[in-house]
Amino acid sequence: MPGETPLTGRIRPDRPPLDAVGYEQAGGYQALRKALGSLTPAEVTQQVRSSTLRGRGGAGFATGQKWSFVPMGEDAPRPRYLVVNADEMEPGTFKDRLLLEGDPHQMVEGAIIAAYAVQASVAYIFLRWAYRVAARRLEKAIAEAYERGYLGRNILGSGYDLDMHLHVSAGRYMCGEETGLLNALEGKRANPRSKPPYPQTSGLWGKPTVVNNVETLCCVPHIVNNGADWFKGLSRTPNGGTKLYGASGRVRRPGLWELPMGTPIRELLEEHAGGMREGYRFRGLLPGGASTDFLGEQHLDVAMDFDTVQKVGSRMGTGTMIILDDRSCPVGMTRNLTHFFAQESCGWCTPCWGGLRWCEQMLSEMEEGRGREEYLDRLAAHAGMLGPGHTYCALAPGAMEPLQSALTLFREDFERHIRERRCPWRSP
Ligand code: SF4
Repeated sequence: MPGETPLTGRIRPDRPPLDAVGYEQAGGYQALRKALGSLTPAEVTQQVRSSTLRGRGGAGFATGQKWSFVPMGEDAPRPRYLVVNADEMEPGTFKDRLLLEGDPHQMVEGAIIAAYAVQASVAYIFLRWAYRVAARRLEKAIAEAYERGYLGRNILGSGYDLDMHLHVSAGRYMCGEETGLLNALEGKRANPRSKPPYPQTSGLWGKPTVVNNVETLCCVPHIVNNGADWFKGLSRTPNGGTKLYGASGRVRRPGLWELPMGTPIRELLEEHAGGMREGYRFRGLLPGGASTDFLGEQHLDVAMDFDTVQKVGSRMGTGTMIILDDRSCPVGMTRNLTHFFAQESCGWCTPCWGGLRWCEQMLSEMEEGRGREEYLDRLAAHAGMLGPGHTYCALAPGAMEPLQSALTLFREDFERHIRERRCPWRSP
């Protein structure tokens, strides 16, 4: 039913998260009992597939389908691994933090069920280095799960074994890319790997591995408990479930809300974020973190889900919006984003490490009043050269999304910088 908040319903800002006993009293670990007691791994995968759950880390790949790519059966390679991608380093994104700090057992339970579905024997949680509170709470939750027989040997008498480890990242954006993350877990430099082979067949130490995002895994116990149709019914559009949406920028109430998937952007902004702050006007937004295309006023009635946002030329990404107002410079904002990506480029491919620095330099010169007319074409050309298919991973194409959309949506602002030989938003 729309209006339900399964992922955040147990989270209270005024108290620490539920311990294992409290979580059980609130219905926790029932889904794990059900999965291990009455469902085969294939049935769990099928249920998640039917639910239409798609990865909440940004890419939106179908979760059950991802699990189904793992080779199963007697002759399949072992061990198999489940990796939780909790390396939430996307600028403007803070949704997984709420789930990890607010209800760590929910994620632990979801990870155990996912591991069971692909018959993994070890699960790793790869956590952003700055999430120290989450690290403490996860450590406690994992220890409690071992004590109560949800982890370790012969879980709940089912014959299924699983160990779970928390790994705190050394702290680079690249570690959030799933194959860079696997390299980092193996103790190597976090360069992405070329695909194929995909991690489901050759991942951690060359063995089948599933990498899932925190919010994705938090959905899993609820799907097992309530069924695929219930999950689909939570949404306002065909992309099932609820979604943690966020807003940052000059809105009255920046924050995070669990709402039906497909909630329109206007409703998120006006009803939940309280509209723009006094004295500021809306100019645009990045719908799902720093590596998505800007949307403008004409897109405010778009439903925030994977398919609809893609149809209007952007991506829902993580669903945590960054709002641009009329008193902030779009060129300066684009320059800041490009600086971030240039800094975080791993340097593995030339178009990315060289191209991002060039783009940053041209944008900086525009901001400082030294921009030249030909920079507009050069920036557009870079956006093409760093686009999909030209680099090892999605960092460079992702970095180009705000730039190329800003060049279209805020063209006049770029031209003013060049014409007036200064940033119009800076005092003379
Ligand atoms: S696109 Fe950038 S971050 Fe990705 S592999 Fe190439 S250099 Fe590294």
